[in-house]
Amino acid sequence: MTTPERHLTEPGQRTFPDATAAEWSDWRWQMRHSVRTLAQLEQLLELTPEERAGCVETAEIFRMGISPYYFSLIDREHPFCPVRMQAIPTKAEARVRPGELLDPLGEDKTRPVPAIVHKYPDRVLFLALDTCSVYCRHCTRRRITKGGEAELNKEELRRGIEYVRAHPEVRDVLISGGDPFLLSEQRLEELLAPLREIPHVEMIRIGTRVPVCLPMRVTDALARTLRKHAPLFVVTHFNHPKEITPEAREACERLVDHGVPVENQAVLMRRVNSDARIIKELSHALLRMRVRPYYLHQMDVAQGLEHLRTPISKGVEILEQLRGHTTGLAVPHLAVDLPGGGGKVTLQPEYVVEHASEGTVFRNFKGERYVYPEPEETDCTCPYDSVWMSQRPRTPSR
Ligand SMILES: *Cc1c(COP(=O)(O)O)cnc(C)c1O
Repeated sequence: MTTPERHLTEPGQRTFPDATAAEWSDWRWQMRHSVRTLAQLEQLLELTPEERAGCVETAEIFRMGISPYYFSLIDREHPFCPVRMQAIPTKAEARVRPGELLDPLGEDKTRPVPAIVHKYPDRVLFLALDTCSVYCRHCTRRRITKGGEAELNKEELRRGIEYVRAHPEVRDVLISGGDPFLLSEQRLEELLAPLREIPHVEMIRIGTRVPVCLPMRVTDALARTLRKHAPLFVVTHFNHPKEITPEAREACERLVDHGVPVENQAVLMRRVNSDARIIKELSHALLRMRVRPYYLHQMDVAQGLEHLRTPISKGVEILEQLRGHTTGLAVPHLAVDLPGGGGKVTLQPEYVVEHASEGTVFRNFKGERYVYPEPEETDCTCPYDSVWMSQRPRTPSR
């Protein structure tokens, strides 16, 4: 555990002076004291008119909820603080533009049971609950996390598990929601254990923002529960290096130390992190705590989020400034999840200049021209493969 005293001296906690150190490091205390209303917010910081209007106008559209810990990272002097922009609504969020979608990824078309989105051949998204530790202003699954639409009760979880059991093609289950780490260890166990027992489920992933917004939730008990169900990967959601605090670092390292690999998916957001320098610093800070940058997501075309969308060219430009210039592991895949349900596609800068008779002509990260001569033989079939296919174990060993 952390030395709780440390928090008392940090400026952030002065926002919540009544919290004892023990309370501050108790995730349930954090959840009980989430900032949920305009009145609470106004007691804690001076809102801009845009923010005040945002709170009023989005009240019926989407929940607000900010853990005291995450709130404490907000710069109360600056409305463009990246934490603040992710936590406090602005007027722009209440505006729906033509073409914006309630279900931007067309998930409801591929939702055979309420808890499952089955869009890709060999993997499913499992929606385990509809609550979060912080309601991100950029949430594109808000039709679910706003509550009500998907009351994911025990019966629906059971139907979700049954669906996976009945579909042998599903070898990868990505559990999300809402934030699965808000479930107790016992509830998580009730979900993970039956999934793990299904022979064709080779791996499990859990998407969570808890290491970012509620790092005290990542206890040894949680990490042990996850490790038991290996191979299980945690996919977290840091968007800015400001979010990588000693507490967040401790949470990620606790997972990794227990044998649970952690990956990060960031969302590219205009004026929050839409700059190569920031993404590079984020990637470096992630790698220093053994978290691998996985995706950099182009913002979905979801209702009320146009103000956070970047031109497609921005993400490509950022990758251009990473690839070659820094560690390959620090370069995430730039993904666009196509509006309407097309799924994810990835983009990268174009390095092929032309296909010439001398070979394929490239430019490298410095803009220099190089030729890769093509081989004479092009038959790429693997003669040993039929032998291997007959020899390899039927069920993949773990
Ligand atoms: C993103 C996503 C996945 C996982 O995609 P990967 O590229 O394997 O990480 C699975 N299902 C749905 C519906 C998704 O949106």
